[in-house]
Amino acid sequence: MIKRATRFFPGLCQNHAEGRGPSKTMSLNALADYHMHTPLCHHATGNPVAYVDQAAQRGLTEIGFACHSPMPDPFDDWRMERDELPRYVDMVATARERGRQEGVVVRLGLEVDYLPGLEDWIAELSTLAPWDYLIGSVHYLTDSLVVDHPEHLSQVQARYSPEEMWARYWELFAAACATGQFDFMAHPDLPKKFGDVPEGDLTPYYRQGIDAMKSAKIGTEINTAGLHKPIGEMYPTEAFLTLAAKAAIPLVISSDAHAPEEVGRDFEAARALAKRSGYTSLARYARRERRLLPLD
Ligand SMILES: [Zn+2]
Ligand SMILES: [Zn+2]
Repeated sequence: MIKRATRFFPGLCQNHAEGRGPSKTMSLNALADYHMHTPLCHHATGNPVAYVDQAAQRGLTEIGFACHSPMPDPFDDWRMERDELPRYVDMVATARERGRQEGVVVRLGLEVDYLPGLEDWIAELSTLAPWDYLIGSVHYLTDSLVVDHPEHLSQVQARYSPEEMWARYWELFAAACATGQFDFMAHPDLPKKFGDVPEGDLTPYYRQGIDAMKSAKIGTEINTAGLHKPIGEMYPTEAFLTLAAKAAIPLVISSDAHAPEEVGRDFEAARALAKRSGYTSLARYARRERRLLPLD
């Protein structure tokens, strides 16, 4: 079982020993961008070191890479292969060196795809590097249909009504939480990306996801990338976040950067959204342990 600790260190944001560095704007103090990619996934650009430089410029004192996880066997063309994992860990180590010079703590994470049947592989993955955190993600509705891939959109829409798509997605989301392998879940209401949203009250879908995270004692993220997708809003929506805050689901704010200039993008707006939703703290992760910092 993963050892987790939840502690609250008021006022630690500026003086967190590892995060201390040259004086920056500090405007994004409590925020840490933990969802950033590398070119190993074939659809992100830029050397990880450039992501660190951008973080420093934006006043972030902590970031983490979480590129798309390898599968046990070749699977698709948008992730690293299994034998590239050591290279990924090396790339992050190099970025961490740069971060030391710039006063930016660099964490090692992974965005791990969940599909039924992958449980043993995910458990194995969790032992293959000294991870600071693992992000759970549901992109696949079936072994071959990706809910957020533009090239799969027509097939997804042909197969599922919005209600069926959402039901399938949240069922997988809850199953991913139940593996007990993740520290927080990525982009919770991802199926809205292209505007496919069921009619009526969405609370039951949100509840299913939030209850599953609560049972698993894991967190989630505000993912600002949604603002730049067809739906034009962050993941998740404010109604989801309000329920999540009431349920005390830990939160991070992430850019899902696939290019250096996207690091920390829209973080002030995301922080405002978190506050409006009732959040007063944000999570930090190190070696699979969580602590909370005040949102301000
Ligand atoms: Zn990606
Ligand atoms: Zn993702």
